[in-house]
Amino acid sequence: MKILVVGGAGYIGSHMVKHLLDTGRRVVVVDNFSTGHRDAVRAADLLELDIADANAVAELFETHSIDAVMHFASFIQVGESMTQPAKYYANNLAATLCLLEAMVKAGVSKFIFSSTAAVYGDPDYVPIDESHPKRPINPYGRSKWMLEQILEDFDRAYGLKSVSLRYFNAAGADPDGELGERHEPETHLLPLILQAASGRRPSITVFGRDYDTPDGTCIRDYIHVTDLVDAHDLALKYLDSAGASAAFNLGNGQGYSVDEVIEAARKVTGRSIETVDAPRREGDPARLVAESSTAKSVLGWQPQFSDINTIVAHAWGWERQYPWRR
Ligand code: UDP
Repeated sequence: MKILVVGGAGYIGSHMVKHLLDTGRRVVVVDNFSTGHRDAVRAADLLELDIADANAVAELFETHSIDAVMHFASFIQVGESMTQPAKYYANNLAATLCLLEAMVKAGVSKFIFSSTAAVYGDPDYVPIDESHPKRPINPYGRSKWMLEQILEDFDRAYGLKSVSLRYFNAAGADPDGELGERHEPETHLLPLILQAASGRRPSITVFGRDYDTPDGTCIRDYIHVTDLVDAHDLALKYLDSAGASAAFNLGNGQGYSVDEVIEAARKVTGRSIETVDAPRREGDPARLVAESSTAKSVLGWQPQFSDINTIVAHAWGWERQYPWRR
């Protein structure tokens, strides 16, 4: 079996590639290196190309006999998507549509899509299950939800089978310490907290202390990158055994507040971490927690690293290697 990993040089994609290679699968990686890191991909066929380049993608499918595509390449910053929606619709939607068309032409019919909790918008209830209304509140979430709907149409019309995995807050790093989160600029909570712990930043800014939560800070569902990778592997097996197209939430089902994550980081790192209070960040719901029982019952998924201290410890192992010179 040969798998095409699009965006394999990024945070979650690079962990996926490592897992696929470790488990004996043949892998072709495509990345345009707009945000990915070349040194995060080892020992795989690595092609630098943009999936919006229809000719290059068609040639790729002619050269390699691909059985399934995993698609991790997208822009992910909610705030940026508000000010630069064109960038998000061009890449997350239009370029992905090119990829899907090329798959249909090449007769490749299995697609695993990195979707997001942002498809739900401001939740009516938590934990959020898959049937919760989809009312994304920013172009990032809308681009993912539109693509999910396109996938339904592609299944109906062309028989393209897909699994959309709606990640909650991806976090943590490769337990072996080889890979981790490396966004530039970094906007995510845990890596920023750990940069404050290591001294790369003076402090961590807490966006809002007036939410309707026990300590007033936002609650999120942090899910270890290794557990996300495991879910992709199971999704692949599910499609291989003729599973119907589906979408699954991926989260721990347990929420942690911003203050709780900072406290866990103080405990794990043994460092003092200064906080600075700031107003709420636009578009942040108070509480996002996943109901992931469908992924567990249908895919057989069982997160191994649900404990926030483990997630923090693995991310800290990575942060301590900064600047990751290899
Ligand atoms: N957050 C924060 N300070 C930061 C970055 C994030 O207080 O410097 C908060 C943010 O408001 C949200 C939570 O941490 O409530 C997780 O944010 P992140 O950007 O990591 O992920 P998101 O939930 O936006 O996908």
